[in-house]
Amino acid sequence: MTPAQCPRCGSDGSTADFRGVDDGETVWTIWRCNDCCFSWRDSEPASAIDRKLRAGEFALDISDPGRFPVVLQPSNFQK
Ligand SMILES: [Zn+2]
Repeated sequence: MTPAQCPRCGSDGSTADFRGVDDGETVWTIWRCNDCCFSWRDSEPASAIDRKLRAGEFALDISDPGRFPVVLQPSNFQK
């Protein structure tokens, strides 16, 4: 399974956290961005998960993580 691009920050680094399975077939996947910790289900409407269609105010530039000390805490997700 190819990691999905994050709808919020555009990172290609994501992890599949959960899969919805029906009759042995995956019907949806919940992804979590490894860079900004955003989570989404790939069956959500394109207006919610397509970076080109989402409202710009929900986009995040993670090049300066110090600007978002509460939102971006990837160390909390390291195993
Ligand atoms: Zn992200």
